[in-house]
Amino acid sequence: MTAEIRMGGDDQALAAPVDQAAGETAAAASASVMLLLDDVANAGLLSACLGEFGYRNVAVAETPGQARQLLLSDVPDLLLLDGNLAGDAGMQLLAWTRAERLLKHTAVIVLADDNGADDMDLKLRALELGASDVLVKPVNARELALRMRNLLARAGARARNAEQDALTGLSNRQRFNVVLDWALTYARRMNVVGAVLQIGIDRFAQINEALGPSVGDRLLQALAHRLAEYVRESDIVTDASRAGGGEHGVSLSRVGGDEFSVLLPVIQRAEQAATVATRIQYALATPFNVAGHELIVTCSIGIAVFPADGLTRDLIIANAGAAMAYAKQQGRDRHAFYGKEMNNRSLARLALERDLRMALERNEFSLVYQPKVDVDSGRLSGAETLLRWRHPERGMVSPADFIPIAEEIDLIIPLGDWVLRTACRQIQTWIAAGLDVPRISINVSARQMHDAGFEENIRRLLAEYHLKGENIVLELTESALMQDADKAVSFLKSLRDTGAGISIDDFGTGYSSLAYLRRFPLDELKIDRSFLIEPNEDSEAIASAIIALGHSLRLRVVAEGVEHERQLAFLRSRHCDEYQGYYFSKPIAPDDYAAMLRSAGMIAR
Ligand code: C2E
Ligand code: MG
Ligand code: MG
Repeated sequence: MTAEIRMGGDDQALAAPVDQAAGETAAAASASVMLLLDDVANAGLLSACLGEFGYRNVAVAETPGQARQLLLSDVPDLLLLDGNLAGDAGMQLLAWTRAERLLKHTAVIVLADDNGADDMDLKLRALELGASDVLVKPVNARELALRMRNLLARAGARARNAEQDALTGLSNRQRFNVVLDWALTYARRMNVVGAVLQIGIDRFAQINEALGPSVGDRLLQALAHRLAEYVRESDIVTDASRAGGGEHGVSLSRVGGDEFSVLLPVIQRAEQAATVATRIQYALATPFNVAGHELIVTCSIGIAVFPADGLTRDLIIANAGAAMAYAKQQGRDRHAFYGKEMNNRSLARLALERDLRMALERNEFSLVYQPKVDVDSGRLSGAETLLRWRHPERGMVSPADFIPIAEEIDLIIPLGDWVLRTACRQIQTWIAAGLDVPRISINVSARQMHDAGFEENIRRLLAEYHLKGENIVLELTESALMQDADKAVSFLKSLRDTGAGISIDDFGTGYSSLAYLRRFPLDELKIDRSFLIEPNEDSEAIASAIIALGHSLRLRVVAEGVEHERQLAFLRSRHCDEYQGYYFSKPIAPDDYAAMLRSAGMIAR
């Protein structure tokens, strides 16, 4: 067989212009190619031609057996295979490559003899067996280079798409996994320390809910852009990138809907990861302007350090995630390390969960009542019932500490039922003792809103204890309602039908949309305690605005956490309707509340 390979050639139309984009040469330079031709001399010649086209990485196999070995030990991007090897060996090798998992991304171009009609058969067979392309000998080197370029470009684009997040253009979780695997291997070999920062955007779901998914998407893009800019411009130069790690330096990926990961392949001390986390939080502090909305976004970051927090990819990712969940649980907008201390805390938390599960049976819960007072007259206007847990060893545990756990472990439904029943029974007991009992407020958790039997349960309890709807007020927090505002509208309507009053608790801390506020059937609005803690111009302005807003919606406005006379004076000057707080009374036991009603002359006639 002679003159199989020709440079240049007559088919100029197919040939690539010699000065095609520089990227092409770069692509050729980084591609690896293997040749298996029936004539080693021809293979050498072809290899030299490919060199002219910029292919630096061309291996020549001499026999099919050697080709199999080389293909597996050094998987190439592209295989040029002679279709006419003795004994059908070429076609057999082709079939084998298509079945071999490791070679599924390797493109195969079959070079076929020009045998007239027979040639057609071979071409078809090769394509059926999975060849990427078939070229007839003698091969025009220019045309071959052009076809190779196209195949490699397509494969490259496919690989990039598979590893890129379509919304933000950042690498996706697949890519992150690959890079993390590399970093873990590197850290093991070089005996260095690295870290993964898992970044979760705080309350993203609420933003998405309130402003719609297209604004949410644009916010994610803006976030990704800002994070990428920070990672690019920051001076967190690591030894790995200095050592030629190049793309294996600091990397940023979008690994979930509202979650990003930063990999620091080499750090000197674990605290460096905390510094990076702080700077990321700082970078996000400037508000985002998306579709005319000014959005203030915070994030919670979990940090896992390797090898200390794990040697495998799965463990590192899980531990960074656990640390992030912990940061959120601690109040968000902060970072936390996974580590011994955190391990201890999560063990303590497991123990608390276990005890909480048994607390109902063991009768460790009780209810206390905090009086509510009319601002103008100073008369008792009601009371809020608050849950207490007396833990056998720890003593009193605050509901702020155990309600979130009860929600997570699905205990909140039976616990919430217990609160409702106990409160209703208590009201009946007071009424039976001849007291005139103003309405009792009961806190309802977000999870109870999704409990199908909730409304029915209320009706049943009211009937069982001979109460009217007006005897109780149900308090739902603003953030619970806004989590699923449409659902909240229908839920509140069904509760309203029972005659119960509806109150929106901790108002001012969530992201209420005013449009929804109008649609919620409400009776009362409770200003969050935080606006009264330190009376300064800002908080007073907000409290005044909330009172005015409540009144314009014809709601009763209640202030929580009143501890001083001057707070009360302020509320009086703003015509707030009711208040509650240590200034008048702490939450008290049922008997003490009964005594309070009696001494206020609140006796049924
Ligand atoms: P909340 O409903 O906003 O209740 C008001 C909280 O402020 C209560 O805390 C109360 O003791 C406290 N407080 C009242 N006046 C003052 C004051 O003047 N100064 C200060 N510093 N604090 C004051 P508590 O009892 O620890 O309850 C915390 C939260 O736990 C409640 O906030 C409520 O969201 C939740 N919670 C309590 N009981 C229940 C319940 O039965 N079910 C549900 N789902 N949540 C409950
Ligand atoms: Mg409340
Ligand atoms: Mg409150």
